[in-house]
Amino acid sequence: MANNMRYFIGNWKMFGIPNSLSILRKINAFITKDKNNKIYKVIIATPFTLLESFSKYFTNKKISVSAQNCFHISQYSSNTGAISAFMIKKLGPKYVILGHSDNRSEGDDEIILKKKISAAIENNLLIIFCIGENKKEKQDKQTNTVLKRQLSKVLEKKFNAKNIIVAYEPIWSIGTGKIPDVLYLSKTIISIKKMLNIIFETKTNIPVLYGGSVEPSNIKQFRLIPEIDGFLIGGASKSAKKFIDIIKNYYK
Ligand code: PEP
Repeated sequence: MANNMRYFIGNWKMFGIPNSLSILRKINAFITKDKNNKIYKVIIATPFTLLESFSKYFTNKKISVSAQNCFHISQYSSNTGAISAFMIKKLGPKYVILGHSDNRSEGDDEIILKKKISAAIENNLLIIFCIGENKKEKQDKQTNTVLKRQLSKVLEKKFNAKNIIVAYEPIWSIGTGKIPDVLYLSKTIISIKKMLNIIFETKTNIPVLYGGSVEPSNIKQFRLIPEIDGFLIGGASKSAKKFIDIIKNYYK
C-alpha cells in the first residue's frame, strides 16, 4: 500500500550565498502557517558553505538541511578540498545526497559510492541516493538494467533500509523540461521498489522519489502515481515561490 508521507527536497546545486536565507525564511513561514494536515517533509540541500547557518535556522521539524555530496573517507584525510561526512554531521545537517548524475559524470562510480554511503552511515547521516538512466539507455530499453546495476552494486542489506531514500532521476529529464509519461514512470518506480526489496531481503519502506524538471505547472500529474513518495527539485527550488507552489499544487 502506498504511504501518505511525501518528501519535497530542494537541490540548490552551486547556488546560494548567506543572503539566500531569505528563501528559507519564506519556505519556513509557509510551512509553519500551512493548515494543510497532509504529512510532508521539506529538505533543502545547500552548498557546503551554507550548511551550518541554514541548519541553525530551522526550528520546524518538517524542514531539514542536506549536504549535496561527501568524500568517501569517513572523517579526516589529506585530500585537499575534500569534505567528509563527519565534518558535515558536525555542522548540523541530517541528510546527504549521493550518486547525483552530476557527480557520477565527474567520477563517482559504484565503488566510490559504496564507500561514500558507508562513510555517511557511520556518521549518522541519512542518504538521498540518486539513480537514473540516460537518454540512450532509455531509447535502448535498458532502463531497468541500468537501475538494477546502480542499486545492486552500491546498496547492501547491512546499510539498513531506514537510512536510505532513493531518488529516481532520469538524466534526460534533469534541467530539460522533459518529464517521463505516467506509464513509464509508474512502472519504473514500482520496479525500483521491487529491486530494493530484493537487495534488502524484505519488503522495505524505502521512499522512492522522482526528480527531473519538476515545476508548479506539472506537479499535479505526479499525483496520478501514488507510489512516488516525493520529489527532488533542482531549478525550481531556488525560488521560494516556485518551491511553495509545488507543494501547494501537489495537494490542491
Ligand atoms: C536535479 O538537479 O536533481 C534536478 C532534478 O534538477 P531539475 O529539477 O532542474 O531538473
